Amino acid sequence: MVTEKESSVAVAAPTLLTGTPVVPGVAFGPALIARNEVSLEAIARFGNGGFADDEAALAAYDDASAAVADTFQRRADKSSGAAAEVLTASAGLARDKGLRTAVRKQLRAGDDLLTAVAGAVEQFVGIFTHMGGLMAERATDLRDIELRITAHLVGEPEPGVPTPSVPSVLVAADLAPSDTAGLDPELVVGLVTERGGPTSHTAIIARQLGIPCVVGTAGALTIEGGIPLLVDGLAGTVELRPDEASARERVRLDQESRAALASWTGPGATADGTRIKILANVADGESAASSSAAPVEGVGLFRTELCFLNRQEEPTVEEQTDIYATVLSAFGDGRYVVVRTLDAGSDKPVAFATHEGEENPALGVRGLRLSFDNPGLLERQLDAIAAAAERTGTETWVMAPMVATVAEAADFADLVRARGLKAGVMVEVPSAALLAHRMLEVVDFLSIGTNDLTQYTMAADRMATDLAHLTDPWQPAVLQLIAITAEAGRRDGKPVGVCGEAAADPLLACALVGMGITSLSMAAAAVRPVGARLATVNMDVCEDVAEAALAAADPQAARAAVLELLG
Ligand code: PEP
Ligand code: MG
Repeated sequence: MVTEKESSVAVAAPTLLTGTPVVPGVAFGPALIARNEVSLEAIARFGNGGFADDEAALAAYDDASAAVADTFQRRADKSSGAAAEVLTASAGLARDKGLRTAVRKQLRAGDDLLTAVAGAVEQFVGIFTHMGGLMAERATDLRDIELRITAHLVGEPEPGVPTPSVPSVLVAADLAPSDTAGLDPELVVGLVTERGGPTSHTAIIARQLGIPCVVGTAGALTIEGGIPLLVDGLAGTVELRPDEASARERVRLDQESRAALASWTGPGATADGTRIKILANVADGESAASSSAAPVEGVGLFRTELCFLNRQEEPTVEEQTDIYATVLSAFGDGRYVVVRTLDAGSDKPVAFATHEGEENPALGVRGLRLSFDNPGLLERQLDAIAAAAERTGTETWVMAPMVATVAEAADFADLVRARGLKAGVMVEVPSAALLAHRMLEVVDFLSIGTNDLTQYTMAADRMATDLAHLTDPWQPAVLQLIAITAEAGRRDGKPVGVCGEAAADPLLACALVGMGITSLSMAAAAVRPVGARLATVNMDVCEDVAEAALAAADPQAARAAVLELLG
Protein backbone atom coordinates (compact mmCIF):
# COMPACT_ATOMS: atom_id res chain seq x y z
CA MET A 1 0.00 0.00 0.00
CA VAL A 2 2.85 2.38 0.76
CA THR A 3 4.96 2.51 -2.35
CA GLU A 4 7.79 4.53 -3.77
CA LYS A 5 6.94 7.66 -5.72
CA GLU A 6 7.14 7.26 -9.49
CA SER A 7 10.52 8.47 -10.66
CA SER A 8 10.53 10.62 -13.78
CA VAL A 9 11.85 8.84 -16.84
CA ALA A 10 13.73 10.56 -19.64
CA VAL A 11 11.85 9.10 -22.61
CA ALA A 12 9.38 10.84 -24.91
CA ALA A 13 6.03 10.86 -23.11
CA PRO A 14 3.20 9.15 -25.02
CA THR A 15 0.40 11.37 -26.30
CA LEU A 16 -2.30 8.70 -26.43
CA LEU A 17 -3.07 6.03 -23.84
CA THR A 18 -5.62 3.27 -24.30
CA GLY A 19 -7.62 1.27 -21.81
CA THR A 20 -10.94 -0.47 -21.33
CA PRO A 21 -13.86 1.89 -22.01
CA VAL A 22 -16.60 1.50 -19.41
CA VAL A 23 -18.79 4.60 -19.51
CA PRO A 24 -19.34 6.27 -22.89
CA GLY A 25 -18.94 10.03 -23.27
CA VAL A 26 -16.21 12.57 -24.02
CA ALA A 27 -14.57 14.67 -21.30
CA PHE A 28 -11.89 17.35 -21.45
CA GLY A 29 -10.11 18.93 -18.50
CA PRO A 30 -6.88 19.15 -16.54
CA ALA A 31 -5.56 15.94 -14.96
CA LEU A 32 -6.31 15.71 -11.27
CA ILE A 33 -4.10 13.04 -9.74
CA ALA A 34 -5.46 11.00 -6.82
CA ARG A 35 -2.56 9.91 -4.67
CA ASN A 36 -2.85 6.57 -2.95
CA GLU A 37 0.60 6.30 -1.51
CA VAL A 38 2.87 7.84 1.05
CA SER A 39 6.43 8.38 -0.16
CA LEU A 40 9.12 6.10 1.21
CA GLU A 41 11.37 9.14 1.71
CA ALA A 42 8.84 10.68 4.11
CA ILE A 43 8.48 7.39 5.96
CA ALA A 44 12.26 7.01 6.25
CA ARG A 45 12.58 10.61 7.48
CA PHE A 46 9.93 9.96 10.13
CA GLY A 47 11.64 6.77 11.32
CA ASN A 48 10.46 5.86 14.81
CA GLY A 49 9.08 9.38 15.29
CA GLY A 50 11.52 10.22 18.09
CA PHE A 51 8.76 10.15 20.75
CA ALA A 52 9.71 10.50 24.42
CA ASP A 53 7.56 7.51 25.39
CA ASP A 54 4.55 5.40 24.35
CA GLU A 55 2.09 7.98 25.65
CA ALA A 56 3.59 10.67 23.41
CA ALA A 57 3.39 8.29 20.44
CA LEU A 58 -0.24 7.49 21.29
CA ALA A 59 -1.04 11.21 21.50
CA ALA A 60 0.37 11.64 17.97
CA TYR A 61 -1.88 8.75 16.85
CA ASP A 62 -4.89 10.45 18.48
CA ASP A 63 -4.19 13.71 16.62
CA ALA A 64 -3.70 11.97 13.28
CA SER A 65 -6.75 9.70 13.59
CA ALA A 66 -8.93 12.64 14.69
CA ALA A 67 -7.77 14.66 11.67
CA VAL A 68 -8.61 11.75 9.36
CA ALA A 69 -12.03 11.32 10.99
CA ASP A 70 -12.69 15.05 10.60
CA THR A 71 -11.84 14.95 6.89
CA PHE A 72 -14.31 12.09 6.38
CA GLN A 73 -16.98 13.80 8.47
CA ARG A 74 -16.65 17.10 6.55
CA ARG A 75 -17.10 15.21 3.28
CA ALA A 76 -20.06 13.30 4.76
CA ASP A 77 -21.71 16.56 5.79
CA LYS A 78 -21.49 17.80 2.21
CA SER A 79 -22.90 14.54 0.75
CA SER A 80 -26.20 12.74 0.95
CA GLY A 81 -27.63 9.21 0.72
CA ALA A 82 -25.28 6.24 0.34
CA ALA A 83 -22.21 8.49 -0.07
CA ALA A 84 -22.86 10.19 3.29
CA GLU A 85 -23.35 6.80 4.94
CA VAL A 86 -20.05 5.41 3.60
CA LEU A 87 -18.13 8.52 4.69
CA THR A 88 -19.72 8.66 8.15
CA ALA A 89 -18.89 4.98 8.67
CA SER A 90 -15.26 5.66 7.70
CA ALA A 91 -15.10 8.59 10.16
CA GLY A 92 -16.34 6.24 12.90
CA LEU A 93 -13.77 3.63 11.94
CA ALA A 94 -10.93 6.19 12.16
CA ARG A 95 -12.09 7.11 15.69
CA ASP A 96 -12.65 3.48 16.72
CA LYS A 97 -11.61 2.83 20.32
CA GLY A 98 -10.78 -0.82 19.62
CA LEU A 99 -8.32 0.25 16.94
CA ARG A 100 -6.73 2.74 19.36
CA THR A 101 -6.41 0.03 22.02
CA ALA A 102 -4.72 -2.27 19.51
CA VAL A 103 -2.24 0.51 18.61
CA ARG A 104 -1.47 1.10 22.30
CA LYS A 105 -0.89 -2.63 22.83
CA GLN A 106 1.57 -2.78 19.92
CA LEU A 107 3.41 0.29 21.25
CA ARG A 108 3.70 -1.33 24.67
CA ALA A 109 5.06 -4.45 23.03
CA GLY A 110 7.91 -2.32 21.69
CA ASP A 111 6.79 -1.40 18.17
CA ASP A 112 7.43 2.07 16.76
CA LEU A 113 4.30 4.08 15.92
CA LEU A 114 4.06 3.34 12.17
CA THR A 115 4.57 -0.40 12.78
CA ALA A 116 2.01 -0.28 15.60
CA VAL A 117 -0.60 1.36 13.34
CA ALA A 118 0.07 -1.14 10.53
CA GLY A 119 -0.12 -4.07 12.97
CA ALA A 120 -3.36 -2.87 14.58
CA VAL A 121 -5.01 -2.33 11.19
CA GLU A 122 -3.84 -5.75 9.99
CA GLN A 123 -5.38 -7.32 13.09
CA PHE A 124 -8.76 -5.66 12.39
CA VAL A 125 -8.60 -6.51 8.68
CA GLY A 126 -8.20 -10.15 9.72
CA ILE A 127 -11.22 -9.97 12.02
CA PHE A 128 -13.44 -8.23 9.45
CA THR A 129 -12.39 -10.57 6.66
CA HIS A 130 -13.25 -13.55 8.82
CA MET A 131 -16.71 -12.10 9.52
CA GLY A 132 -17.37 -12.02 5.76
CA GLY A 133 -20.14 -10.18 3.91
CA LEU A 134 -20.37 -6.44 4.25
CA MET A 135 -17.90 -6.46 7.15
CA ALA A 136 -15.25 -7.96 4.86
CA GLU A 137 -15.70 -5.01 2.53
CA ARG A 138 -14.67 -2.68 5.37
CA ALA A 139 -11.13 -4.08 5.00
CA THR A 140 -10.55 -1.71 2.04
CA ASP A 141 -11.74 1.22 4.17
CA LEU A 142 -9.42 0.20 7.03
CA ARG A 143 -6.40 0.11 4.74
CA ASP A 144 -7.42 3.50 3.38
CA ILE A 145 -7.58 4.83 6.95
CA GLU A 146 -4.13 3.40 7.73
CA LEU A 147 -2.72 5.20 4.70
CA ARG A 148 -4.30 8.50 5.69
CA ILE A 149 -3.12 8.26 9.32
CA THR A 150 0.39 7.41 8.11
CA ALA A 151 0.34 10.45 5.80
CA HIS A 152 -0.65 12.70 8.70
CA LEU A 153 2.06 11.29 10.95
CA VAL A 154 4.87 11.71 8.40
CA GLY A 155 3.65 15.16 7.36
CA GLU A 156 2.40 14.43 3.82
CA PRO A 157 -0.98 15.57 2.44
CA GLU A 158 -3.77 13.05 3.02
CA PRO A 159 -4.01 10.68 0.05
CA GLY A 160 -7.23 10.29 -1.88
CA VAL A 161 -9.17 12.48 -4.26
CA PRO A 162 -8.38 16.18 -3.93
CA THR A 163 -11.32 18.53 -4.47
CA PRO A 164 -10.80 20.20 -7.85
CA SER A 165 -11.42 23.91 -8.29
CA VAL A 166 -12.29 23.51 -11.97
CA PRO A 167 -13.95 20.60 -13.84
CA SER A 168 -11.17 18.00 -14.10
CA VAL A 169 -10.32 14.49 -15.23
CA LEU A 170 -9.53 12.31 -12.21
CA VAL A 171 -6.54 9.99 -12.70
CA ALA A 172 -5.85 7.21 -10.17
CA ALA A 173 -4.34 3.76 -9.75
CA ASP A 174 -7.82 2.55 -8.75
CA LEU A 175 -10.45 4.10 -6.51
CA ALA A 176 -11.53 3.00 -3.03
CA PRO A 177 -15.22 3.19 -2.03
CA SER A 178 -14.45 6.21 0.17
CA ASP A 179 -12.83 7.95 -2.83
CA THR A 180 -15.82 7.48 -5.07
CA ALA A 181 -18.51 8.19 -2.46
CA GLY A 182 -19.50 11.79 -2.95
CA LEU A 183 -17.70 12.38 -6.28
CA ASP A 184 -19.27 15.43 -7.85
CA PRO A 185 -19.91 14.83 -11.59
CA GLU A 186 -19.91 18.62 -12.12
CA LEU A 187 -16.27 18.78 -10.98
CA VAL A 188 -15.02 15.31 -11.91
CA VAL A 189 -15.98 15.18 -15.59
CA GLY A 190 -13.90 12.14 -16.55
CA LEU A 191 -12.25 9.16 -14.83
CA VAL A 192 -9.09 7.33 -15.86
CA THR A 193 -7.59 4.49 -13.83
CA GLU A 194 -4.47 2.45 -14.40
CA ARG A 195 -5.99 -0.67 -12.88
CA GLY A 196 -9.51 -2.10 -12.70
CA GLY A 197 -11.77 -3.85 -15.16
CA PRO A 198 -15.34 -3.37 -16.40
CA THR A 199 -16.77 -4.76 -13.14
CA SER A 200 -14.43 -2.87 -10.79
CA HIS A 201 -15.77 -0.55 -8.13
CA THR A 202 -14.61 2.47 -10.15
CA ALA A 203 -16.54 1.29 -13.21
CA ILE A 204 -19.74 0.64 -11.29
CA ILE A 205 -19.71 4.07 -9.60
CA ALA A 206 -18.77 5.87 -12.83
CA ARG A 207 -21.68 4.16 -14.57
CA GLN A 208 -24.08 5.20 -11.82
CA LEU A 209 -22.88 8.80 -11.98
CA GLY A 210 -22.67 8.85 -15.78
CA ILE A 211 -19.02 10.02 -15.75
CA PRO A 212 -17.08 9.06 -18.95
CA CYS A 213 -14.58 6.48 -17.76
CA VAL A 214 -11.65 4.42 -19.03
CA VAL A 215 -10.15 1.76 -16.73
CA GLY A 216 -7.11 -0.52 -17.06
CA THR A 217 -5.23 2.33 -18.80
CA ALA A 218 -1.56 1.34 -19.05
CA GLY A 219 0.65 4.33 -18.21
CA ALA A 220 -2.09 6.39 -16.53
CA LEU A 221 0.05 6.93 -13.45
CA THR A 222 2.76 8.62 -15.51
CA ILE A 223 0.33 11.44 -16.41
CA GLU A 224 1.53 14.75 -15.02
CA GLY A 225 -0.97 16.59 -12.80
CA GLY A 226 -2.64 19.58 -14.48
CA ILE A 227 -1.97 18.71 -18.12
CA PRO A 228 -5.07 18.78 -20.37
CA LEU A 229 -6.64 15.38 -21.09
CA LEU A 230 -9.31 14.32 -23.56
CA VAL A 231 -11.07 11.14 -22.44
CA ASP A 232 -13.21 9.11 -24.82
CA GLY A 233 -15.20 6.62 -22.73
CA LEU A 234 -16.57 4.90 -25.82
CA ALA A 235 -13.29 4.31 -27.66
CA GLY A 236 -11.24 3.78 -24.49
CA THR A 237 -8.67 6.47 -25.28
CA VAL A 238 -6.99 9.19 -23.24
CA GLU A 239 -5.33 11.91 -25.33
CA LEU A 240 -2.64 13.93 -23.55
CA ARG A 241 -2.39 17.66 -24.36
CA PRO A 242 -4.88 17.55 -27.30
CA ASP A 243 -5.60 20.58 -29.47
CA GLU A 244 -7.90 22.61 -27.23
CA ALA A 245 -10.34 23.88 -29.87
CA SER A 246 -11.01 20.44 -31.36
CA ALA A 247 -11.23 18.85 -27.90
CA ARG A 248 -13.88 21.36 -26.86
CA GLU A 249 -15.77 20.73 -30.09
CA ARG A 250 -15.79 16.98 -29.40
CA VAL A 251 -17.13 17.58 -25.92
CA ARG A 252 -19.85 19.85 -27.33
CA LEU A 253 -20.93 17.25 -29.89
CA ASP A 254 -20.92 14.56 -27.20
CA GLN A 255 -23.05 16.67 -24.88
CA GLU A 256 -25.47 17.33 -27.71
CA SER A 257 -25.84 13.63 -28.39
CA ARG A 258 -26.10 12.83 -24.67
CA ALA A 259 -28.91 15.38 -24.36
CA ALA A 260 -30.64 13.66 -27.27
CA LEU A 261 -30.39 10.37 -25.31
CA ALA A 262 -32.36 11.84 -22.45
CA SER A 263 -35.35 12.10 -24.73
CA TRP A 264 -35.35 8.36 -25.54
CA THR A 265 -38.53 6.96 -24.07
CA GLY A 266 -38.54 3.36 -25.33
CA PRO A 267 -39.66 0.76 -25.99
CA GLY A 268 -36.45 -0.84 -27.18
CA ALA A 269 -36.22 -1.55 -30.89
CA THR A 270 -33.76 -1.37 -33.76
CA ALA A 271 -34.25 1.44 -36.31
CA ASP A 272 -36.22 -0.91 -38.56
CA GLY A 273 -38.52 -2.07 -35.79
CA THR A 274 -37.16 -5.35 -34.37
CA ARG A 275 -38.29 -5.24 -30.74
CA ILE A 276 -35.59 -5.77 -28.10
CA LYS A 277 -36.68 -5.65 -24.48
CA ILE A 278 -34.71 -3.11 -22.44
CA LEU A 279 -34.86 -4.12 -18.76
CA ALA A 280 -33.43 -2.98 -15.42
CA ASN A 281 -31.12 -4.73 -12.95
CA VAL A 282 -32.32 -4.16 -9.38
CA ALA A 283 -31.17 -5.09 -5.89
CA ASP A 284 -34.07 -4.25 -3.58
CA GLY A 285 -37.34 -2.35 -3.25
CA GLU A 286 -35.59 1.03 -3.34
CA SER A 287 -33.70 0.41 -6.58
CA ALA A 288 -36.81 -1.20 -8.08
CA ALA A 289 -38.87 1.91 -7.30
CA SER A 290 -36.30 4.24 -8.86
CA SER A 291 -35.73 1.97 -11.89
CA SER A 292 -39.43 1.68 -12.57
CA ALA A 293 -39.41 5.33 -13.67
CA ALA A 294 -36.89 4.50 -16.45
CA PRO A 295 -38.21 3.52 -19.89
CA VAL A 296 -37.89 -0.23 -19.24
CA GLU A 297 -40.29 -3.07 -19.90
CA GLY A 298 -39.51 -4.69 -16.59
CA VAL A 299 -36.65 -6.16 -14.57
CA GLY A 300 -34.24 -8.59 -16.22
CA LEU A 301 -32.29 -9.36 -13.03
CA PHE A 302 -33.40 -9.00 -9.42
CA ARG A 303 -30.30 -10.01 -7.43
CA THR A 304 -32.09 -11.40 -4.34
CA GLU A 305 -28.88 -12.20 -2.41
CA LEU A 306 -28.13 -8.47 -2.16
CA CYS A 307 -31.14 -8.16 0.20
CA PHE A 308 -29.46 -10.52 2.67
CA LEU A 309 -25.73 -9.64 2.76
CA ASN A 310 -25.98 -8.44 6.37
CA ARG A 311 -28.31 -11.18 7.64
CA GLN A 312 -27.01 -13.89 9.94
CA GLU A 313 -30.21 -15.98 9.91
CA GLU A 314 -32.33 -17.02 6.94
CA PRO A 315 -35.39 -14.73 6.78
CA THR A 316 -38.73 -16.54 7.13
CA VAL A 317 -40.84 -17.22 4.05
CA GLU A 318 -43.22 -14.43 5.16
CA GLU A 319 -40.38 -11.94 5.52
CA GLN A 320 -38.93 -12.92 2.15
CA THR A 321 -42.38 -12.59 0.59
CA ASP A 322 -42.68 -9.01 1.85
CA ILE A 323 -39.24 -8.09 0.47
CA TYR A 324 -39.88 -9.63 -2.95
CA ALA A 325 -43.36 -8.09 -3.08
CA THR A 326 -41.90 -4.56 -2.75
CA VAL A 327 -39.81 -5.20 -5.85
CA LEU A 328 -42.62 -6.88 -7.81
CA SER A 329 -45.18 -4.22 -6.95
CA ALA A 330 -42.96 -1.51 -8.49
CA PHE A 331 -43.62 -3.25 -11.83
CA GLY A 332 -47.23 -4.25 -11.20
CA ASP A 333 -48.43 -2.05 -14.08
CA GLY A 334 -48.27 -4.81 -16.68
CA ARG A 335 -44.46 -5.15 -16.74
CA TYR A 336 -42.59 -8.30 -15.65
CA VAL A 337 -39.76 -9.16 -13.25
CA VAL A 338 -37.10 -11.85 -13.56
CA VAL A 339 -36.17 -12.92 -10.04
CA ARG A 340 -32.86 -14.68 -9.58
CA THR A 341 -32.68 -17.16 -6.72
CA LEU A 342 -29.89 -16.67 -4.17
CA ASP A 343 -26.50 -16.28 -5.82
CA ALA A 344 -24.71 -16.56 -2.50
CA GLY A 345 -21.03 -17.39 -2.28
CA SER A 346 -17.73 -16.19 -3.71
CA ASP A 347 -17.89 -12.39 -4.13
CA LYS A 348 -21.33 -12.28 -2.42
CA PRO A 349 -21.08 -14.20 0.87
CA VAL A 350 -24.40 -14.59 2.70
CA ALA A 351 -23.89 -15.76 6.31
CA PHE A 352 -26.85 -18.14 6.46
CA ALA A 353 -26.19 -19.80 3.12
CA THR A 354 -22.53 -19.95 2.13
CA HIS A 355 -20.03 -22.62 3.00
CA GLU A 356 -17.15 -21.51 5.23
CA GLY A 357 -13.49 -21.95 4.42
CA GLU A 358 -13.65 -23.11 0.81
CA GLU A 359 -10.24 -23.21 -0.87
CA ASN A 360 -11.57 -21.58 -4.04
CA PRO A 361 -15.05 -20.13 -3.49
CA ALA A 362 -15.53 -18.90 -7.07
CA LEU A 363 -15.34 -22.53 -8.17
CA GLY A 364 -17.03 -23.88 -5.09
CA VAL A 365 -20.51 -24.34 -3.70
CA ARG A 366 -22.12 -21.08 -4.82
CA GLY A 367 -25.40 -20.09 -6.48
CA LEU A 368 -27.72 -23.02 -7.30
CA ARG A 369 -25.12 -25.45 -5.91
CA LEU A 370 -26.03 -24.34 -2.37
CA SER A 371 -29.34 -26.17 -2.80
CA PHE A 372 -27.66 -29.55 -3.41
CA ASP A 373 -27.23 -30.28 0.29
CA ASN A 374 -29.79 -27.75 1.47
CA PRO A 375 -32.83 -28.09 -0.83
CA GLY A 376 -35.08 -26.39 1.73
CA LEU A 377 -33.23 -23.11 1.26
CA LEU A 378 -34.22 -22.99 -2.42
CA GLU A 379 -37.73 -24.33 -1.87
CA ARG A 380 -38.53 -21.76 0.82
CA GLN A 381 -37.25 -18.99 -1.45
CA LEU A 382 -39.38 -20.25 -4.35
CA ASP A 383 -42.43 -20.39 -2.05
CA ALA A 384 -41.81 -16.76 -1.08
CA ILE A 385 -41.34 -15.65 -4.70
CA ALA A 386 -44.56 -17.43 -5.71
CA ALA A 387 -46.44 -15.85 -2.81
CA ALA A 388 -45.12 -12.37 -3.75
CA ALA A 389 -46.14 -12.94 -7.38
CA GLU A 390 -49.61 -13.97 -6.28
CA ARG A 391 -49.95 -11.01 -3.90
CA THR A 392 -48.84 -8.38 -6.44
CA GLY A 393 -50.20 -9.93 -9.62
CA THR A 394 -46.92 -9.04 -11.38
CA GLU A 395 -45.77 -11.44 -14.10
CA THR A 396 -42.82 -13.22 -12.50
CA TRP A 397 -40.11 -15.29 -14.11
CA VAL A 398 -37.54 -17.13 -11.96
CA MET A 399 -33.99 -18.11 -12.87
CA ALA A 400 -31.13 -19.90 -11.16
CA PRO A 401 -27.51 -18.68 -11.08
CA MET A 402 -24.39 -20.80 -11.73
CA VAL A 403 -26.06 -23.64 -13.59
CA ALA A 404 -23.56 -26.06 -15.12
CA THR A 405 -25.56 -29.08 -16.33
CA VAL A 406 -28.84 -29.76 -18.13
CA ALA A 407 -29.97 -31.97 -15.23
CA GLU A 408 -29.57 -29.03 -12.81
CA ALA A 409 -31.65 -26.86 -15.15
CA ALA A 410 -34.37 -29.53 -15.45
CA ASP A 411 -34.65 -30.05 -11.68
CA PHE A 412 -34.81 -26.32 -11.08
CA ALA A 413 -37.46 -25.82 -13.80
CA ASP A 414 -39.64 -28.53 -12.22
CA LEU A 415 -39.56 -26.74 -8.86
CA VAL A 416 -40.39 -23.36 -10.42
CA ARG A 417 -43.17 -24.63 -12.70
CA ALA A 418 -44.74 -26.52 -9.79
CA ARG A 419 -45.38 -23.06 -8.37
CA GLY A 420 -46.96 -21.78 -11.60
CA LEU A 421 -44.02 -19.55 -12.62
CA LYS A 422 -41.90 -19.32 -15.77
CA ALA A 423 -38.50 -21.03 -15.34
CA GLY A 424 -35.11 -20.13 -16.72
CA VAL A 425 -31.41 -20.40 -15.98
CA MET A 426 -28.46 -18.09 -16.18
CA VAL A 427 -25.67 -18.85 -18.60
CA GLU A 428 -22.56 -18.01 -16.60
CA VAL A 429 -20.55 -21.21 -16.91
CA PRO A 430 -19.11 -22.09 -20.34
CA SER A 431 -20.71 -25.58 -20.13
CA ALA A 432 -24.16 -23.96 -20.05
CA ALA A 433 -23.39 -21.88 -23.15
CA LEU A 434 -22.04 -24.85 -25.08
CA LEU A 435 -25.18 -26.83 -24.22
CA ALA A 436 -27.62 -23.92 -24.60
CA HIS A 437 -29.77 -25.82 -27.11
CA ARG A 438 -30.21 -28.67 -24.61
CA MET A 439 -30.83 -26.26 -21.73
CA LEU A 440 -33.64 -24.74 -23.79
CA GLU A 441 -35.32 -28.14 -24.08
CA VAL A 442 -35.98 -27.99 -20.32
CA VAL A 443 -36.41 -24.26 -19.52
CA ASP A 444 -38.49 -21.36 -20.87
CA PHE A 445 -35.69 -18.78 -21.21
CA LEU A 446 -31.97 -18.16 -20.75
CA SER A 447 -30.20 -15.09 -19.38
CA ILE A 448 -26.48 -14.66 -19.99
CA GLY A 449 -24.48 -13.36 -17.01
CA THR A 450 -21.52 -11.99 -18.93
CA ASN A 451 -19.63 -11.00 -15.76
CA ASP A 452 -19.24 -14.57 -14.61
CA LEU A 453 -19.26 -16.07 -18.11
CA THR A 454 -16.18 -13.91 -18.84
CA GLN A 455 -14.55 -14.83 -15.52
CA TYR A 456 -14.98 -18.56 -16.10
CA THR A 457 -14.17 -18.53 -19.82
CA MET A 458 -10.97 -16.56 -19.38
CA ALA A 459 -10.05 -18.14 -15.99
CA ALA A 460 -9.60 -14.61 -14.66
CA ASP A 461 -11.05 -13.43 -11.34
CA ARG A 462 -13.59 -10.70 -12.15
CA MET A 463 -12.37 -8.69 -9.15
CA ALA A 464 -8.67 -8.91 -10.07
CA THR A 465 -7.70 -5.41 -11.07
CA ASP A 466 -4.56 -6.62 -12.84
CA LEU A 467 -6.48 -8.84 -15.25
CA ALA A 468 -8.69 -6.17 -16.85
CA HIS A 469 -7.58 -7.14 -20.34
CA LEU A 470 -8.91 -10.67 -19.72
CA THR A 471 -12.10 -9.83 -17.80
CA ASP A 472 -13.44 -8.06 -20.86
CA PRO A 473 -16.67 -9.38 -22.43
CA TRP A 474 -15.36 -8.28 -25.84
CA GLN A 475 -12.87 -11.18 -25.66
CA PRO A 476 -13.53 -13.28 -28.79
CA ALA A 477 -13.97 -16.50 -26.80
CA VAL A 478 -16.69 -14.90 -24.67
CA LEU A 479 -18.44 -13.50 -27.75
CA GLN A 480 -18.40 -16.97 -29.35
CA LEU A 481 -20.17 -18.46 -26.32
CA ILE A 482 -22.76 -15.67 -26.33
CA ALA A 483 -23.35 -16.24 -30.05
CA ILE A 484 -23.83 -20.00 -29.51
CA THR A 485 -26.38 -19.29 -26.77
CA ALA A 486 -28.24 -16.64 -28.76
CA GLU A 487 -28.39 -18.88 -31.82
CA ALA A 488 -29.91 -21.70 -29.75
CA GLY A 489 -32.65 -19.32 -28.60
CA ARG A 490 -33.27 -18.09 -32.16
CA ARG A 491 -33.69 -21.70 -33.37
CA ASP A 492 -36.15 -22.55 -30.59
CA GLY A 493 -37.97 -19.22 -30.61
CA LYS A 494 -37.28 -18.82 -26.88
CA PRO A 495 -36.03 -15.63 -25.16
CA VAL A 496 -32.30 -15.32 -24.53
CA GLY A 497 -31.27 -12.14 -22.71
CA VAL A 498 -28.06 -10.62 -21.40
CA CYS A 499 -28.05 -9.26 -17.84
CA GLY A 500 -24.32 -8.83 -17.14
CA GLU A 501 -22.50 -5.51 -17.46
CA ALA A 502 -22.00 -6.17 -21.20
CA ALA A 503 -25.64 -5.24 -21.81
CA ALA A 504 -24.89 -1.70 -20.59
CA ASP A 505 -22.29 -1.09 -23.33
CA PRO A 506 -24.13 0.62 -26.24
CA LEU A 507 -21.71 -0.70 -28.88
CA LEU A 508 -21.64 -4.25 -27.59
CA ALA A 509 -25.44 -4.13 -27.21
CA CYS A 510 -25.75 -3.73 -31.00
CA ALA A 511 -23.50 -6.76 -31.53
CA LEU A 512 -25.49 -8.80 -29.00
CA VAL A 513 -28.74 -7.97 -30.78
CA GLY A 514 -27.13 -8.93 -34.08
CA MET A 515 -26.32 -12.34 -32.57
CA GLY A 516 -29.99 -12.89 -31.70
CA ILE A 517 -30.22 -11.66 -28.09
CA THR A 518 -33.83 -10.69 -27.31
CA SER A 519 -33.46 -8.61 -24.13
CA LEU A 520 -30.80 -6.44 -22.47
CA SER A 521 -30.90 -5.81 -18.74
CA MET A 522 -28.75 -3.16 -17.08
CA ALA A 523 -28.36 -0.49 -14.40
CA ALA A 524 -31.04 2.16 -14.90
CA ALA A 525 -28.37 4.79 -15.77
CA ALA A 526 -27.42 2.82 -18.89
CA VAL A 527 -30.96 2.36 -20.23
CA ARG A 528 -31.18 5.53 -22.34
CA PRO A 529 -27.68 5.36 -23.92
CA VAL A 530 -28.29 1.73 -24.92
CA GLY A 531 -31.90 2.19 -26.05
CA ALA A 532 -31.10 5.33 -28.04
CA ARG A 533 -28.08 3.77 -29.78
CA LEU A 534 -30.04 0.68 -30.76
CA ALA A 535 -32.81 2.86 -32.19
CA THR A 536 -30.36 4.27 -34.75
CA VAL A 537 -29.22 0.93 -36.19
CA ASN A 538 -31.01 -1.44 -38.58
CA MET A 539 -31.08 -5.15 -37.78
CA ASP A 540 -28.89 -6.07 -40.77
CA VAL A 541 -26.24 -3.63 -39.51
CA CYS A 542 -26.46 -5.24 -36.06
CA GLU A 543 -25.80 -8.57 -37.75
CA ASP A 544 -22.77 -7.15 -39.61
CA VAL A 545 -21.56 -5.67 -36.34
CA ALA A 546 -21.90 -9.05 -34.60
CA GLU A 547 -20.00 -10.76 -37.39
CA ALA A 548 -17.20 -8.18 -37.23
CA ALA A 549 -16.90 -8.45 -33.45
CA LEU A 550 -16.82 -12.24 -33.61
CA ALA A 551 -14.15 -12.21 -36.33
CA ALA A 552 -11.84 -9.77 -34.49
CA ALA A 553 -8.60 -11.01 -32.98
CA ASP A 554 -8.93 -9.22 -29.65
CA PRO A 555 -11.18 -6.78 -27.73
CA GLN A 556 -9.47 -3.66 -29.12
CA ALA A 557 -9.86 -4.84 -32.71
CA ALA A 558 -13.47 -5.84 -32.04
CA ARG A 559 -14.36 -2.41 -30.61
CA ALA A 560 -12.59 -0.62 -33.50
CA ALA A 561 -14.39 -2.74 -36.10
CA VAL A 562 -17.80 -2.15 -34.50
CA LEU A 563 -17.17 1.57 -34.07
CA GLU A 564 -16.27 1.85 -37.73
CA LEU A 565 -19.43 0.04 -38.86
CA LEU A 566 -21.67 2.09 -36.57
CA GLY A 567 -19.99 5.35 -37.51
C1 PEP B 1 -23.19 -11.97 -14.19
O1 PEP B 1 -22.42 -12.82 -13.71
O2 PEP B 1 -23.02 -11.43 -15.29
C2 PEP B 1 -24.39 -11.57 -13.43
C3 PEP B 1 -25.31 -10.83 -14.00
O3 PEP B 1 -24.46 -11.97 -12.13
P1 PEP B 1 -23.63 -11.25 -10.95
O4 PEP B 1 -22.93 -10.07 -11.54
O5 PEP B 1 -24.62 -10.88 -9.92
O6 PEP B 1 -22.71 -12.34 -10.53
MG1 MG C 1 -23.02 -13.92 -11.94
